[in-house]
Amino acid sequence: MYIYLEVNQDVLRTYLDREAAGNVDVDFKAFLNIPADVLFYRISRVNIKPTALIEAANAEAWDHNFADKVFGGNEFRILTISAVWSKGMSNVFANAVELHNHICPGLTSGYFIARYLDENFPLGEDESYIVWAVPP
Ligand SMILES: [Zn+2]
Repeated sequence: MYIYLEVNQDVLRTYLDREAAGNVDVDFKAFLNIPADVLFYRISRVNIKPTALIEAANAEAWDHNFADKVFGGNEFRILTISAVWSKGMSNVFANAVELHNHICPGLTSGYFIARYLDENFPLGEDESYIVWAVPP
């Protein structure tokens, strides 16, 4: 089960502004009492196993969720990251994913190219690589 919450920026901004003004104690209590449907612009509960989407029938059955933007337009990045994360992801790869914001052939090939260069052609002092990786 995936639960996607997208905060209402206008509601959050008023509390952050009050906190910045020094009203932390009073506003924190009020903040905790904001109803979820007020604090969050979107609340989605979706039952999906990301690794199941590799099968065409499952992908077709789930496809309407992309059109409906059940994760606020973040469907691809959430599903690709969580699918790989569920199989185990190194911290170094997680850092690359964080920068790239999703997992795709370009990211994974770039990651493996960098690892290969690092292991087989280590840099000397004051050296650096410029790599143009083109997934196709
Ligand atoms: Zn990409």
